[in-house]
Amino acid sequence: MTSTSKSCVFCQKKIQENHFFASENFLAIYNIAPILPGHSMVIPKLHHQSITELSDPELCEMTLFARKTVNLLMKTFGAKAFNWTIQEGEEAGQTVPHLHLHLIPRVEKDLPHPGDWYPLLKESEAKIIDSDVRSRFSYDEIVQVVERIRSVAKEMLG
Ligand SMILES: [Zn+2]
Repeated sequence: MTSTSKSCVFCQKKIQENHFFASENFLAIYNIAPILPGHSMVIPKLHHQSITELSDPELCEMTLFARKTVNLLMKTFGAKAFNWTIQEGEEAGQTVPHLHLHLIPRVEKDLPHPGDWYPLLKESEAKIIDSDVRSRFSYDEIVQVVERIRSVAKEMLG
């Protein structure tokens, strides 16, 4: 894999250290501006912008890790459904140029219409990089949620 990028939010040590789940090359982190409870992201540890930059084994690892992560999130947040989405490139709505797979656990009637998640996600992506509105979730709040998910992971995986 390539190196890390100093200007990239997902390469920051503080963000990466606060993951709740990890595989060899990937991390699961909680979204700083979650659109719904449990909204998390799977990111590569190193700076890759696109899924097309991953090797075949890395892509397999990411997919299997993301499936484990979504199972963990559904258990933690009592969900039976989830959204799983990647915005690839600016034209597609990618705001942070570091590959991130959104995992959003869903419960019945969490939004007026099941498809309402997308405009909310667009707004949330803007909050990740705009420091003025970033305080929607404080660092302490993120740490608390992360602890909660970690304890469920322990139960599930031993
Ligand atoms: Zn990065």
